[in-house]
Amino acid sequence: MKDRVSRRKFLGTASAAAVMPQLWASRQAVPFHAFLPEQAAPHVYPTRIVDMHVHFDEKKANFISDLLKLSERLNLTACLLTPFRNRKVVAEAAKQHPRQIVPFGFVDLDAPDVVQQAEELHAMGYRGLGEMEFVKKPYNDPSYFPLYELANRYGWIVLFHTGIVLREHFDEPEDVASGRMRPIYLEEIARRFPKITVLGAHCGNPEYEWAAEIARWNPNVFFDLSGSTLTKMHGRLAEFQKIFWWSATEWHSAEWNVRTPNNDPNAFIKIVFGSDTDLNEIESVANQYHAMFDACDVPERTRKMIMGGTLGKMLGLPD
Ligand SMILES: [Zn+2]
Repeated sequence: MKDRVSRRKFLGTASAAAVMPQLWASRQAVPFHAFLPEQAAPHVYPTRIVDMHVHFDEKKANFISDLLKLSERLNLTACLLTPFRNRKVVAEAAKQHPRQIVPFGFVDLDAPDVVQQAEELHAMGYRGLGEMEFVKKPYNDPSYFPLYELANRYGWIVLFHTGIVLREHFDEPEDVASGRMRPIYLEEIARRFPKITVLGAHCGNPEYEWAAEIARWNPNVFFDLSGSTLTKMHGRLAEFQKIFWWSATEWHSAEWNVRTPNNDPNAFIKIVFGSDTDLNEIESVANQYHAMFDACDVPERTRKMIMGGTLGKMLGLPD
C-alpha cells in the first residue's frame, strides 16, 4: 500500500534464506528472477494475461505509460488496485485503455465513510474493491457488512489480503495483525454475500489448506498465488497437488459443474494470476506460475483460465 516496492522485496525475499544476510545488511533489491531456476525459459504469451494484483504506485510519475508498454509486450490486462485518493487518474486511464486497465478501488475497511467511497467508485466505473488489508477487526466482523452488502448488490469482485502481512514500522507500535486476515474468514463473506466474487490474495500464506478447502466448497471464492509463496516453495511446487487435491477424484459439489469457469473439473481452476509486484517483475511471477503448472501437471486449458481466462470472463473483457 504505502511502498509497494519495499513490500515486494520484503515478501519476495523473506523466505530466501540464502540471500537474507546480504539483504538485511544492504537493504537493496534482490531481483525476483534471482530465485528462479536458471533453466527457466521465458514463456511466450499468445493469450491474454489478466493480473488481479497490480498496485497503482503514485510515486512513479510514468506508472500508467510504463504499464501500457508492459501490457503491449506481455499481452497483459491489469486489475489496478487504486487508493481512493488516486481514483480519478486511474478511472480516466481505464476509460482510455479498457483492454489494458480495469480499475479496482483500494479502500480502508475501517474508514467511517467507506460505503460512500464505494458508491462513488462504482459511479466512476470501478469494477470492484481491493486489496483489503491492515484491518482493525477480523474480515467477518459485522461492522464491515454494510460494505459487503453494497459489493454484493454490485456483484463486485473483492480482493482480500490473506495470511502473513509485512511489518511496516519496526520501531513504532502498530495495530496490524495477520490473524485478522485469515482465509477462513472469507468463507463467511462468500456465503452471506453470494454475489460477491471473493478473491483471496496470497492463498492464505501459510494456511494454504484452509484457503483451498474454502475455495473447493464455495463457487465464488478464488485465490491468487502472489507474495513469497512460489519463492518459498520453488523446490517443492508439486506439493500444491496435495493442497488442490480433488482434480482426479469423483468429488464435486452440486454446483460445481454449473459454476466452475469453463466447466473445468481441475482443482487448480480456483487459482487466478496475481503478481503483487513491481511492473518489471510481473513477467518473473508469470514464469513462477508456469513452473508450478509444470510441477503439478496442470492441463493447458486450466493454465489459460488461471492466467487470464477466468478473470477475463468474470470481468467481461473484450478479446
Ligand atoms: Zn496482500
